[in-house]
Amino acid sequence: MQITGYRSHGVAAAVALVNAVTGQAGNDADHPEDSENTRDSEDALRALLRECGFFWRQFEPRHADAFREWGRTLRPFFEATELEEAVGLLNGLLLQVPMHPHLADHDDPAGLHIHYAPPSADLPHRFRATTLMNLSELVCKYGLSRTGVCAAEGCDRVYADTSRAGRRRFCSEACANRTNVAAFRARKRDAP
Ligand SMILES: [Zn+2]
Repeated sequence: MQITGYRSHGVAAAVALVNAVTGQAGNDADHPEDSENTRDSEDALRALLRECGFFWRQFEPRHADAFREWGRTLRPFFEATELEEAVGLLNGLLLQVPMHPHLADHDDPAGLHIHYAPPSADLPHRFRATTLMNLSELVCKYGLSRTGVCAAEGCDRVYADTSRAGRRRFCSEACANRTNVAAFRARKRDAP
């Protein structure tokens, strides 16, 4: 169950973008979709926007670098271990991304909702504004307890947990299972 509803879509989009453009490319057999040199291609970015409910039809190849840059910019937020550090980072970005909040209702299933970027802003700017505001809202509510880097050995993908329970520490089921199996084997090996 999603606790933050529409507002969480920017959180999921931020995670997807950071994982697409940063970290070790194709580092992990559990994530075959990450094959090197393709996960931040124009097609991959377009697909990412579509999956995350952004206006993917407005994506143009000239936008690709702006998206890649923003993914690299957001990564340190997920790596932050101190709240103060994360807040400073978000506040710095909030100064850099011009906002002009307004209500919008463009046949979206969510109905009336807030857009943060100016109405005339291009797609990368709107993406920056939405992801930044949604991450900021998440931090206001939960601190750093809902975001981080995957706890699985050898995985550097980031995650955000918008579930009610909020106990997630892994980027995926695959990483959680792999870690649990390894821990189980280690216990068996160490048992007398
Ligand atoms: Zn992982």
